[in-house]
Amino acid sequence: MTERLRLFNTLTRRLEDFEALDDRVVRIYTCGPTIYDFAHIGNYRTFVFEDVLRRTFQLFGYRVLQVQNLTDVDDRTIQRANQSGVPLREFTDRFAAAFFEDLATLRVEPAEHYPRATDYIPQMVEIIKRLEEGGHTYRSEGSVYYRISTFPGYGKLSGVRPEANLAGARVDVDDYDKEDARDFVLWKAPKEGEPVWDTELGPGRPGWHIECSAMAMALLGETFDIHCGGVDNIFPHHENEIAQSEGATGKAFAHTWLHAEHLVVEGEKMAKRLGNFFTLRDLVERGFDPLAVRYLLLSVPYRQRLNFTFDGLHAAAQAIDRIANTLRRLDSTPEAAGADGLVDGAREFQRDFRDALADDLNTARAVAALHDLLRRVNTALDGGGISAAAAAAVRAGFADADSVLAVFPERRATDADAEIDALIGQRAAARAARDFARADAIRDELAARGIILEDTPHGTVWHRG
Ligand code: AMP
Ligand code: ZN
Repeated sequence: MTERLRLFNTLTRRLEDFEALDDRVVRIYTCGPTIYDFAHIGNYRTFVFEDVLRRTFQLFGYRVLQVQNLTDVDDRTIQRANQSGVPLREFTDRFAAAFFEDLATLRVEPAEHYPRATDYIPQMVEIIKRLEEGGHTYRSEGSVYYRISTFPGYGKLSGVRPEANLAGARVDVDDYDKEDARDFVLWKAPKEGEPVWDTELGPGRPGWHIECSAMAMALLGETFDIHCGGVDNIFPHHENEIAQSEGATGKAFAHTWLHAEHLVVEGEKMAKRLGNFFTLRDLVERGFDPLAVRYLLLSVPYRQRLNFTFDGLHAAAQAIDRIANTLRRLDSTPEAAGADGLVDGAREFQRDFRDALADDLNTARAVAALHDLLRRVNTALDGGGISAAAAAAVRAGFADADSVLAVFPERRATDADAEIDALIGQRAAARAARDFARADAIRDELAARGIILEDTPHGTVWHRG
């Protein structure tokens, strides 16, 4: 079985065999949410991709050390906190709590560290001082800027190169999507209505980019394995992170850069400012199972755009039902001696599933392999059941699948399931007493709820239609 993971590195623009810097421990920095509002499902597409990455490493026998920051001071958080008249920390606390709830709902495994930018101001100041000593900065009106012409590698990630005629042009805003490289702000002079920290650099507050450099290096070291984000982070955010970190240390910052393509709605990036967004809460309120949302987000490989539609979400919900139905049938069908046919199929699944993930996290192939296995299991159960060995091999395959995809419904029967089981028991009793009218009435009542009964030689099994 392959244990080698191939990943597309934005920095080299190539698929590469992944080599951990430190044997079996992978150090990963993932740019986290800006906590000024509820995150939308576009953001969660990126976070779920990072979760699949983390879980794949674990399936392949690595230990993961993952950091995901919370951006709790930047242009947007300050502006929104001011609008709502709540102090910045109190304001961002609310959305930090909402973010952690959403992660749990989406079964995203917790990272090892969730640093908040405002807790790392001294580390940011330290890096800026090092950059000053190295001649990478200049001051203007109380702010400190990064002079990008002092860093020859500027543009190596994004391909956006400084142009000679832009020399000296500066930007103060945290996020700018124009494709021009400009001297960007590291430390911003105090401004009316903005929080201020008194530091050796003078009073002020950090620019957005320096935050991630500081938190990444503080928790993962000056050089680490993987840095992730959405494609919109490539420029300027990640390009600037490289300039700051490598400018200060003279060492490579992250070896591998992975970027998730966007979730789009009718061809446009889902974004707060475009108003074309859904939060996870919106979808749950409309009655969608969060597992269906997770399934939809991960079913398209991370380097392809994902077009969000409600049809797609319904199809994802059906896929989740299919998994649940197969699990239930597997649990309720007694073993059939000698029916070992699935042992090889289940092993083949484990290999295909790992191969798909090893191929730059090809989740579409991984999910297709799972559906093949589900189909084989259902066919075998239709044919009268499977042996204990086959059932064990299938369960081992499902365990692998669930350890990465995490879309298998909880095994614990719900109250609704218990009620269905009770009605099936009453129907069996009615049949035994030859009260067929009552037995049929129960079958019809269940059918009206979308529950299909199947009478097999070993009793009645049910699934959702
Ligand atoms: P933000 O809260 O805006 O800093 O974004 C948090 C993360 O979500 C970043 O890694 C972004 O690249 C990512 N992101 C933002 N919009 C989308 C989208 N429509 N699809 C996928 N990822 C996104
Ligand atoms: Zn970042």
